Amino acid sequence: MDTTQLALLALCAGIVIGGAISAIIVAALRARHRAQADTTLQVPDGVREVLHGMDDAVVVVDASAIVLAASAAAAPFELAEGRLLPSDELRALARRVRGADDPVSVAETMRLRRGVPPAEPRLVSVRATRISPRLTLLVLRDITEAERVEQMRRDFVANTSHELKTPVASVTLLAEAIESAADDPPQVRAFAARLSAEATRLGALTSRIMNLSRLQSSDGFTVGDVAVDEVVAAAIDAHAVQAASAGVELMRRGGRGTYVKGDVQVLTEAVGNLIANAISYSPQGGSVGVGVKAADGVVEIAVTDRGIGIAEGDQQRIFERFYRADPARARRTGGSGLGLSIVKHAVQRHGGEVTVWSRPGRGSTFTIRLPQSEPPAHARDAAGKKAKKHKKAKKDKTVTDAAPAASPRPNGEPA
Ligand code: ADP
Repeated sequence: MDTTQLALLALCAGIVIGGAISAIIVAALRARHRAQADTTLQVPDGVREVLHGMDDAVVVVDASAIVLAASAAAAPFELAEGRLLPSDELRALARRVRGADDPVSVAETMRLRRGVPPAEPRLVSVRATRISPRLTLLVLRDITEAERVEQMRRDFVANTSHELKTPVASVTLLAEAIESAADDPPQVRAFAARLSAEATRLGALTSRIMNLSRLQSSDGFTVGDVAVDEVVAAAIDAHAVQAASAGVELMRRGGRGTYVKGDVQVLTEAVGNLIANAISYSPQGGSVGVGVKAADGVVEIAVTDRGIGIAEGDQQRIFERFYRADPARARRTGGSGLGLSIVKHAVQRHGGEVTVWSRPGRGSTFTIRLPQSEPPAHARDAAGKKAKKHKKAKKDKTVTDAAPAASPRPNGEPA
């Protein structure tokens, strides 16, 4: 082999060896880059910006459950950059999804504290997704309200079907009784009268159920300036006949001219339900007072009776749907057990509350408290004019009264 051939061989060997070394270096660099991407604690570009634009509580955490990035909505859950995930359950979920090859995303429901104690723990649905071997994305959604509404809907359907069963069964039985008594006209008339009473009761129950479900949903609620005087007057008016036939006197007491924001019909029904109960549970010859008071931005409407009263154990429960302290009596008075539940929901929708004071044998006072609002412009103008007129009348009266003293008649008699 001559020197030229040797040189060529060396060159070829050099090219092969150089190529192999380059390939090894490139592969090593790539592998390092990949490993770096896997182990870096840097949140990928743009993730923070995406998180800031999100309404949900979202965080990115590293392998030690430290929050690296968080959306604004995550703050109430004590999820902030640089802090450890605040709950064992959250940490366990992040660990689980990081350790598993498959699936890369896991969802769980858990109770987490939201806000400073003594805030109640909230029911939260958490989805954890692995975005790299060391980074995990957690999306938290507060489902407390949705769960409460769903539970309420389930209870409502169950209670309602149960409550409707009895009058529907009575209607069926009475219809059969009419059929079998076809040859006995007085009996047919008696059954028909009872059938008609059951049908009326069924109608009233259905309309109450619908009112309650309307109050629990978000629609059918209008908000405007409501004159409390109008609400009280309309509620008293609507029960004047019931009061008269029960021999109960209805009395309006307290201040006038207060306003609240809300739905006049809903509030009138709420006050009306309290009046209806006060009449139903009062003895003949009794009296029911409806008083209005405003202080410190709160309007109080109190309905007081001197009737049978409510035992302490029942006072906690009477606002529940279909609860009756004395089912037999409630049935006699046509009670559905929905009246106070309607009051509670109506008042809550107005940002207020309803409370009860009662002593068995002495009577009860139900008080609705609502946030007071400014009277609307037209009411302020009318009140201003009235006050002016009143002031002028008073002034004129003072002048007239003062006149004799200022200019006594020559004979000294008052004018
Ligand atoms: P109902 O239609 O049966 O009256 P409510 O929800 O209005 O249903 O009231 C629930 C229960 O609370 C009643 O069955 C009754 O036992 C009790 N209650 C309500 N208001 C009064 C009252 N003013 N005096 C005594 N008991 C009352």
